[in-house]
Amino acid sequence: MKTSQTLFNQTKLKATQARLEVTDILLKNPRPLSHQEILKKLPQNFDRVTLYRNLNWLLKNGLIHRISGEDRARYFEINHQFIQSNEKYRSSRKIAPDNHLHAHFNCQNCGKFFCLDDIHPKFKLELPPKFIFDTIELTVKGKCSRCQ
Ligand SMILES: [Zn+2]
Ligand SMILES: [Zn+2]
Repeated sequence: MKTSQTLFNQTKLKATQARLEVTDILLKNPRPLSHQEILKKLPQNFDRVTLYRNLNWLLKNGLIHRISGEDRARYFEINHQFIQSNEKYRSSRKIAPDNHLHAHFNCQNCGKFFCLDDIHPKFKLELPPKFIFDTIELTVKGKCSRCQ
């Protein structure tokens, strides 16, 4: 299993204790976690603001991505795709850091997100002139196995 330290070495990003701790939690979890869920798993000295700041930094640098849930809740997960193609990404800048090319399942009862890693939607993007592509989200909604 990858640790956050090897991840930072690999991507040549500057590691801090807080960034490593947040990244570790996301690495250990197979499904996207909400801000609240991450906070619960962190040591007590972590406050909401520190977590927001660190999540934003990780997002900006493409290590994680974000999914929008119901009621504008945000879910975060490791951006495996970015990590695999890190070098390519840095040279081309064609893929938005927040971009994220697999689908998700969102349970309408408990609100949890699950990665559908086998579904890779392909879009032929033809945007109007001067429109800039940022991210595409594909979410399948329904009930998870625990909520049925
Ligand atoms: Zn559920
Ligand atoms: Zn995912």
